Amino acid sequence: MYIYETSRISHGDSILYIARDDAGKALFVTGHGEAFDTLDGEITQNSKRCPLTNANAKIIRRLFPFTNPVSHKGRKFTIGLGDRLGLASAGHIRLIRDMDVFPVLAQQSIRELNLTGRTYEDVLSAAVWAVFQEGYTKGYGADGDHLKTREEVKMALDQGFTMITLDCSEHIPNGLEAVIKFAVSIYDEFIRGTDIDFELSIDETQTVTSPEDHRYVAKELEKANIKPVSLAPRFCGEFQKGIDYRGDVNEFEKEFAIHVQIAKESGYKISVHSGSDKFAVFPIIYRETDKNVHIKTAGTNWLEALRVIAQKTPDLFREIHIFALKNLTEAKKYYHTTENTSNIPDINTLTDEELPSLLDQDDARQVLHITYGLILSEKNNDGTSKFKDIIYKTLNEYEADYYEALEKHIKRHIFA
Ligand code: ZN
Repeated sequence: MYIYETSRISHGDSILYIARDDAGKALFVTGHGEAFDTLDGEITQNSKRCPLTNANAKIIRRLFPFTNPVSHKGRKFTIGLGDRLGLASAGHIRLIRDMDVFPVLAQQSIRELNLTGRTYEDVLSAAVWAVFQEGYTKGYGADGDHLKTREEVKMALDQGFTMITLDCSEHIPNGLEAVIKFAVSIYDEFIRGTDIDFELSIDETQTVTSPEDHRYVAKELEKANIKPVSLAPRFCGEFQKGIDYRGDVNEFEKEFAIHVQIAKESGYKISVHSGSDKFAVFPIIYRETDKNVHIKTAGTNWLEALRVIAQKTPDLFREIHIFALKNLTEAKKYYHTTENTSNIPDINTLTDEELPSLLDQDDARQVLHITYGLILSEKNNDGTSKFKDIIYKTLNEYEADYYEALEKHIKRHIFA
C-alpha cells in the first residue's frame, strides 16, 4: 500500500489519510469519532476504507474547511488550471504550493462538462480530493467557466463554486447594451452582496474587442455598480487551443497595454482565456500587468496526459491518435482551430520512441486537444468504454510521471 503522507491529518480521535492499494486510491480512516462514523466506507481490520466519492467529498469539506474553494479577491496572480479528467490537480498543487500564485483548480465550461460526461459536483470533488491528498491549505478557487444562462449560473453556485465566468458572447451581435443588460440581471440575482468572484467574458466572438468597446463596457458596468474581479476581452490575433499565439505580437502588445489600462482604472484584472501554451505573449502579459492578471489554462494538461500515454503505452496512444484524426470533423463543431492534418507525420512511420514528439507538433496537438470528448465517450460494441477506462487506469498507474509532466509544463506558463 502506498500512503500519500501529505494527506495524513487528524480529526478528533480519527486519523485520515489517502492511500493506494490493489483496488486503487481511497481514503482510510482509523480511530473513532465523527470522521470515522460519518464517512461512508468498508470496515477492514482497524480502518475504514472510504471511496473517493462525491458524497464523501462533501463530508470532508464539512470536517476540513481548508478543502472548500474560496474567493480570490485581492490576489494578484491567479491561474485557472482546468482539469478535464479530474486527475491533474495534485500535480498543479505540487507546482504552485510554495509560490505566490492562487490556483483555480476546479474550472470547467458547460461544453467541457458535456464532452466529458462530468458534473460540477464531480469537478469540485476531484479538486477537494486533490487538495486533501496534498495537504494544501492555502486556498483554491472553483470557476463555473463560460456560463451562458441563469440556470447554468445557479447550478454552479448550488454546488459551491466561488467564481462565475459569465459568457456574454451570444449577446454581442445584439449590441453592447444587450451584453450589459444580461450582465446586470445575472449580477443582481446571484452576485451582488456575495463573495463570488465575477468575471465577464466577451472573448468567444467573431470580432476582436476594440479598446473603445472595452471602455464602453467598463463605463456601463461602473454605472450599474457591477464590480467584476476580471474581464476577458477577445484580443487581436488568435488564441487557439493548445498552441502558441498566432498573430502580430507588436499589435497585441499595443492593444493589450490599453486593455490593461482600462481594467486598472476600472478596478478589475484582465483575464486571458485559452492561456495554455501562449509562450510568445506571456512576457508581454506579465510585464504589462505586473502579474496582476488571471490566466486560464485547461486542455494543455490533457495533452500532457497524452504525452505520458505516448511514453508509457505506445500502442494505446497510436489507437487514440488514429481515432482523433478520423473524428476531427465532428470535434470541430465545438472548437475553432486551424490545423493542417497534412503536416502531421503518418503515425505508422514513427517508432514508439518518436511518438511523444507528436505532442510537440502544433497540428497534432490541436487534433488531440479538441477531440478529447469524442475519445472519452467512444464505446465498444458491448457498451464498454473504448478509451476512457484504460486512459484512467494508465494515468493512475503512472501518476507520478503525470504529476511531473504537469509541473514541468505549467511551470513554463508561470515563469515566462
Ligand atoms: Zn473564453
